[in-house]
Amino acid sequence: MVRRKGSGPVSSKCPGCGTVHSRAVLEEHLYVCPECKHHLSMPSQARIATLADAGTFLELDRNLVSVDPLEFADLRSYRARLQEARRETGVREAVTTGVCKIGGQRAVLVVFDFAFLGGTMGSVVGEKIAHAFEEATQRRIPLVSVAASGGARVQEGMFSLMQMAKVAAAASVHDRNGLAFVSVLTDPTFGGVTASFASLGDVLIAEPGAQIGFVGPRVIEQTTGVAPPKDSHRAETLLQAGLIDLVVKRADLPAVIAYLISHLKKQRSTDNEAEGLPPAVKRQRLPAWQKVGLARHSGRPSARYYIARMATRFLELHGDRWSADDPAIVGGLAELNGQTVIIIGHDRGGTPEEKAASHDGKAYSEGYRKSLRLMRLASKFRIPVVTLVDCPNAQANYESEHRGIAHALARNLATMANLPTPIVSVIIGEGGSGGALALGVADRVLMLENAIYSVISPEGAAAILYRDAGRAETVSEVLKLTAQDLHSLGIIDTVVPEPEGGAHLDPGATADTLKSHVLAALRAFSDIPTLQLLDDRYKKYRHIGQGGKFWREKVRSGLSDVFGLLAYAVSRMEKSNRKKPKAHESAPRTRPEKSRLPAASSPRRAERD
Ligand SMILES: [Zn+2]
Repeated sequence: MVRRKGSGPVSSKCPGCGTVHSRAVLEEHLYVCPECKHHLSMPSQARIATLADAGTFLELDRNLVSVDPLEFADLRSYRARLQEARRETGVREAVTTGVCKIGGQRAVLVVFDFAFLGGTMGSVVGEKIAHAFEEATQRRIPLVSVAASGGARVQEGMFSLMQMAKVAAAASVHDRNGLAFVSVLTDPTFGGVTASFASLGDVLIAEPGAQIGFVGPRVIEQTTGVAPPKDSHRAETLLQAGLIDLVVKRADLPAVIAYLISHLKKQRSTDNEAEGLPPAVKRQRLPAWQKVGLARHSGRPSARYYIARMATRFLELHGDRWSADDPAIVGGLAELNGQTVIIIGHDRGGTPEEKAASHDGKAYSEGYRKSLRLMRLASKFRIPVVTLVDCPNAQANYESEHRGIAHALARNLATMANLPTPIVSVIIGEGGSGGALALGVADRVLMLENAIYSVISPEGAAAILYRDAGRAETVSEVLKLTAQDLHSLGIIDTVVPEPEGGAHLDPGATADTLKSHVLAALRAFSDIPTLQLLDDRYKKYRHIGQGGKFWREKVRSGLSDVFGLLAYAVSRMEKSNRKKPKAHESAPRTRPEKSRLPAASSPRRAERD
């Protein structure tokens, strides 16, 4: 499509800094102010030109134009306003839809033009969006939308409101077919557009500084008499509130969207270009308490470090789409040697500031809701999940209780049990209690050699058992929290070796070894049908721990006890049989275990005999 020339104002004043820019300057800078980087409204045709690969955009429903169903008039007639909007913008409606390629990937593109009646959604806008979703569903391709809208088009009354239900329904059918939807929210996006399809994207992206919401700050102030806080509706505030995934500069949008739509698609196999595993090294086993120290070492690599080192590409996704974005959980879409995965991990941060921000990996419910949301994304596209566990315990305070930490942990356990895609979990540092397990239900559980994993911290256990946290060192041995102990108990599947002295002495080598193990584990599940995968996972947790070396030895010694008892009972029986008179030899033989019945049963049998 040729970028529209000669339409719209010849110059515009930047709302950010007041500088007046010519149309040529704005077009050159993608309508981002060169002075203050404010993202101005972008004409739909210019937007299409920046997103669609050159020469690939084929418009849909070009001839659908709004009529005036209610013959509506306020200060001016709706008909006159439509004519003026067409003349001023050079487009026929507030939304333009079409099929194109983005970064070489076919997609349906839906672009709003705020200059056309405030980008409002009337019957024709709704019709074009619903049809765009249907077209994408039929062609089995992703849909990308770029919204800029004041909401419903009042001039079309209830016809306008009903568009919300129509477009949400069309988006949900596209979703049900396992197809990706990337929704970009630009300045401003409000009302019936935010409250319908535009918030239903698999990934929600906002441009910097964009005002986004249901009811705008000015209307809130008018109706309630109270002005909302400054920046209440800004993209950055929404990111902190967990309501959007990303804030992306306009210039970076094409690459981010292309990355998303090329990875958010059905993964047919979890095959990867895995390297061979490094040779195993036999090392002296360290005492448990020493491992506790290593697992908690301030220089121990964090989840973010491993992700950065292991992933060829990683796009972090934020928020629980509910209330917050907990930095104690990091997650996103990554590539490991060409294999698309969703990585989710507890992050305790590296610097003291990061450690404070991520509250030492003690995630709140919103962190676990974020992980849940990412796992559901993985489920939709059958993307394998890799989790990195490093959490001393889930956040334990009143706020955490109030925000439903127990519910969040429970939902994670249940979701992971039924996730129809392979899960590989790695205990990388300190795995403590339910907060660790809520990322640790997996088809294969790996554990770094000096990591620890326990139902409670040694200090907590000592405080409960001895009322003396100082006895933590003694308790650490009996808690069986080391990788080697947990492997022999059958709780974990693989011990991943660390460099001599601990992961902190060579984080790079640790990450490289870990990556080889993760890839090998993913490859092991590449050809297993989903139903069998889920069945095997269920059985694994149904019988957890009963297959390990520890239990085999327990069962063996337990069996030898039972056999010992049996042998004793049989010899007692034989002795007593020898003493009995001949007449009793024809009586039914007493089974060995009956010899342990109370004595009272014998006289009765004797009477019957
Ligand atoms: Zn400016």
